[in-house]
Amino acid sequence: MATNSVEAEIGIIGGSGLYDFPGLGNVSEFRLSTPFGNPSDVVTVGDLNGRRVAFLARHGRHHQHSPSSLPVAANIYALKYLGVREVISVSAVGSLREHLRPGELVVPDQLVDFTRGRRSTFFDRGLVAHLPFAEPFCPRLREQVLASVGSVTDVTSHDSGTYLCIEGPQFSTRAEAGVNRALGMDVIGMTAAPEAKLAREAGLCLATIALVTDYDCWRENEEPVTAAMVAEVMRRNVAAVRKAILHFTRSPRGERTCGCQDALAHAIMSNAASMSDGDRDRLDLLAGPYLS
Ligand SMILES: [Zn+2]
Repeated sequence: MATNSVEAEIGIIGGSGLYDFPGLGNVSEFRLSTPFGNPSDVVTVGDLNGRRVAFLARHGRHHQHSPSSLPVAANIYALKYLGVREVISVSAVGSLREHLRPGELVVPDQLVDFTRGRRSTFFDRGLVAHLPFAEPFCPRLREQVLASVGSVTDVTSHDSGTYLCIEGPQFSTRAEAGVNRALGMDVIGMTAAPEAKLAREAGLCLATIALVTDYDCWRENEEPVTAAMVAEVMRRNVAAVRKAILHFTRSPRGERTCGCQDALAHAIMSNAASMSDGDRDRLDLLAGPYLS
């Protein structure tokens, strides 16, 4: 499945509490198989304000995949295959800062990856590539997502923050929360890495809308986070995320001046001429234009 089928332009990866996207018209469901395994679930493609949008529940529609076993490479590959160019990734996060309150939205601008042993590249064999990742979220898409998040009047949003991605699935100890705060982290979650890395490798623009569900466990006089707490705050606030995405799809989609689509152009170290036909086929959708 190396040929791009151009079914959709905008991808939405829904996190905890966002398992579907009601209101899509002219819906098709895609159960895809990729060279990197099967995505978390079917990808639902439909019309939203005249845009073709591909929705994927990150953990599956029944929340059956844990953060550590998410098929992230397959998810990103599937969106790329369907023609997606811009991805809005929605995540539930804990807050490590007093001013980032539960129920509020953060559009992070930085990412720290504390995960261990997850597949974080498409290019682990057959082809070696080292991409710049100083700006882990697409700056251009972030601005547009910020405008959309800002248009939702009944929720407070924050225009920057460092997202710390931990392995999980347990939440942090108090000692870890203290260390993470001292290190300058703002919000904590379990999924932004390697998702943002793989999206960049695939030439997709990606921005994250992080919904704060709790204060992790660092705050005095506050109950430490529980899964039930996360689910309840998500249930109450997911409507604001949907509103922001609706606004985003109504906004004009401009030129991709950010360079994400060609991030791979100057990153390949290998001599493509020595690649096997199998590796070439496996990576054609992602790296084909740069292998001639
Ligand atoms: Zn971009």
